[in-house]
Amino acid sequence: MAALKPYTRIAVKIGSSLLVDEATGLINQAWLKSIAQDIASLTTSGKQIIIVSSGAIALGRGRLGLSKVHLSLAEKQACAAAGQVVLTQTYEAVLEPLGLKTAQALLTLNDTEDRRRWINARATLSTLLKLGAIPIINENDTVATDEIRYGDNDRLAARVAQMCGADLLVLLSDVDGLYTTDPNLDKDAAHIPEITDITPDIMAMGGNPNRMRGTGSGGMATKLQAARIATDAGCAVVITKGDAKNPLSVLANGTEKASWFLAKTNPKLARKQWIAGSLKPKGTLVIDAGAARALSKGGSLLAAGLVRVEGKFEHGDAVMITDENGIEIGRGLSGYSAKNATAIKGLKSGDIEARLGYDGGAALIHRDNMVLST
Ligand code: GLU
Repeated sequence: MAALKPYTRIAVKIGSSLLVDEATGLINQAWLKSIAQDIASLTTSGKQIIIVSSGAIALGRGRLGLSKVHLSLAEKQACAAAGQVVLTQTYEAVLEPLGLKTAQALLTLNDTEDRRRWINARATLSTLLKLGAIPIINENDTVATDEIRYGDNDRLAARVAQMCGADLLVLLSDVDGLYTTDPNLDKDAAHIPEITDITPDIMAMGGNPNRMRGTGSGGMATKLQAARIATDAGCAVVITKGDAKNPLSVLANGTEKASWFLAKTNPKLARKQWIAGSLKPKGTLVIDAGAARALSKGGSLLAAGLVRVEGKFEHGDAVMITDENGIEIGRGLSGYSAKNATAIKGLKSGDIEARLGYDGGAALIHRDNMVLST
């Protein structure tokens, strides 16, 4: 698996057209079993896999007997509700016999755009990965309304990859990558195997919706948007056709055409830059010298070392961390609101639940959500 060797956490987006046979509306079982084998061997080699799968609407159509071309939003949502059950069971049925645990997560745009929900979803997904489960993710089409819908799983997958700190996003679809122009219309269209910078010229190449897109709803334009989101977050992206059996092995062996978008940074660094540079702190956590030492050694910020809370902020907001003289030590996303942080000031981690009535975790600011000034 040479081409996938450098990556440790891989998000794989599976398009409807690969999973569901357009003519029959049934799952492509042989293909699905083959990708399950790929996933099993990747996990055996120590990689963590996150699946973002489309197909709920396509499967629900068959179940509900809706064969017309255009569905209303309510019909699509009904199809998603009926199809999602089958979709999850389908993954479970092929992955479980290979010794892999699956877990379903349905997300809406709000979950990936609102920082509080983002932090919660991120914590759940990292816990699942730590416990060795494979998250199977789709948009929560049943409750999402038009204004808050992704509508395509390409961008959802990019947000999920960013949320999980994935270092590679594989977009498996029915196109074999990016071309200079639409290959269906122009015989001189040239395939681009590697993209180091997603410039406006590159974005413009997605202008013509991909004409072979079949059952799914994302064209090349949404794939490029996804690539931009992911690469900015330090996650490389590869777009490939994926319709051959064992698509991940095929991709890794370099025998299939693909377009690779290189990341300029890594997920950890991108996240730190985001926390340090683009979020305005809403308050300050003043900490004692012992806590400052723990932070410099790579620890999280615990309530025991908190001296004072300043400002008004909620769980998930950016805050500044200072010493008792007001010197900035770092910044981070607070795990507690200002009110609750004040309530647990000086407490040992084990006493937090008794004070607040819930266990919000030992860390006032988790290490991953923090960046130090020096
Ligand atoms: N979330 C939709 C589904 O599962 C698919 C969206 C897409 O095709 O990208 O049916």
